[in-house]
Amino acid sequence: MREEIEARFADWKEPAYRVTQLLDWLYRRGATSWDAMSNLPKPLRARLSEQFSLRGLDLVRLQGSRDTTQKFLWRLEDHSLIESVLIPANPALYGEASDRRTLCVSTQVGCAYGCRFCASGLEGWKRNLRPDEIVEQVLAVERWWKAESGESKSGARLIDNLVIMGMGEPLANYDNLMKALRILNAPWGGGIGARKITVSTSGLAPQIRKLADEPLQFRLAISLHGATDEVRNRIMPVNRKYPLKELVDACEYYRQKKGRMLTFEYILIAGVNDGLDQVKPLAQLARRLHAKINLIPYNIVEGLEWTRPDDVAQERFRSALEKQKIPVTLRREKGHDIDAACGQLRLRTERELAA
Ligand code: SF4
Repeated sequence: MREEIEARFADWKEPAYRVTQLLDWLYRRGATSWDAMSNLPKPLRARLSEQFSLRGLDLVRLQGSRDTTQKFLWRLEDHSLIESVLIPANPALYGEASDRRTLCVSTQVGCAYGCRFCASGLEGWKRNLRPDEIVEQVLAVERWWKAESGESKSGARLIDNLVIMGMGEPLANYDNLMKALRILNAPWGGGIGARKITVSTSGLAPQIRKLADEPLQFRLAISLHGATDEVRNRIMPVNRKYPLKELVDACEYYRQKKGRMLTFEYILIAGVNDGLDQVKPLAQLARRLHAKINLIPYNIVEGLEWTRPDDVAQERFRSALEKQKIPVTLRREKGHDIDAACGQLRLRTERELAA
């Protein structure tokens, strides 16, 4: 954080403007070596390199194409793998419509929450990401884009919307996530408006309340996937700890504090939550919380039993919600062939490496 660097530079008797120069190299120009920071004096660069590491993320795999989603598989220092997903110029699924792009970032290696349909939870939780590892996903994608597009000299940025919805339960890594988001939001850092940052959760009610008390106005998305305790208990173990009533009360608190619309993510799984009997309870929840609903047809995960409903069933569910006057989008990703479901690319690569 800026204050930590300021304190360190003050200890070193460096003038205050050096802090601004360093932050500019780190967050605007995306420098990956101390030597590149040509306007910092050599002794300062040497001192920085002795005390800090500038190691970024190694790109292991990249899947997808420019006009669809692109999935980045990164290797961390400890050889753990994480994913980030770049979503093309967005139709305002999250944040506001923009000609720039949305990045979905991971917050943990693996996940302890074990949602039954999810590849990220299949091999359990390994560790929380540090704040710099969360921030670095944005910077590394920006660097990659500059190199690809020849934009390296301009200060242009690629990403102006963030969704915290990749691998891991974001609110289970609360403090590191908040630290990272403060950096990504700061004018001296990522410069991404808080209203363009959507934090998702599978339903950690106490942390939703904590998030509501934060000064920054993040958007909140609930990975709901079931409108009754019966359905959620079947596919999301977190619901046994924080059943719907507790979750909805926490969301209500968030809405009262922030006055903002929520989003419900709802993965449509054939025979589990796509029946028309689910429409009424889902519409009731959405109405109560002023939520809009993103329907996402399930992406098949190797080794799991679930399937996606056919197009007719998807459409039927969507239009039944519309008839209830609920704002709803149906996100048909062309994702099957790029392991689009969260955590799949990592899982497949880890299994290949192990073999
Ligand atoms: S859906 Fe999210 S919370 Fe659930 S297991 Fe997957 S990563 Fe974890």
